[in-house]
Amino acid sequence: MPRLESAGRYPPIEVMAKLVAPHMERCIGCLLCVLCSSRARGSISLEDSAIRIYFDGTSFSAQVDAGLPVSEEIVKICPRNCLALTEDQ
Ligand code: SF4
Repeated sequence: MPRLESAGRYPPIEVMAKLVAPHMERCIGCLLCVLCSSRARGSISLEDSAIRIYFDGTSFSAQVDAGLPVSEEIVKICPRNCLALTEDQ
């Protein structure tokens, strides 16, 4: 899992990064985030991913597996800025 480090004069504090989906109202269901996550795990798959996207006929939602590693790359690949990394303390 990626770790974020604090800046400044204090010793670095390592915290775990957590993937969140605060803006799923913007999601277009492209699944780039799903494929990006699976690629980081060594495959291109809709199954082997830290994030899954669901469509209920009206809107998209995301389910994140907190047990799998995530990276900033997943956040950056989203064309609609739906995702973010937060510090999981
Ligand atoms: S990359 Fe963004 S727009 Fe595409 S499915 Fe994932 S959250 Fe939705």
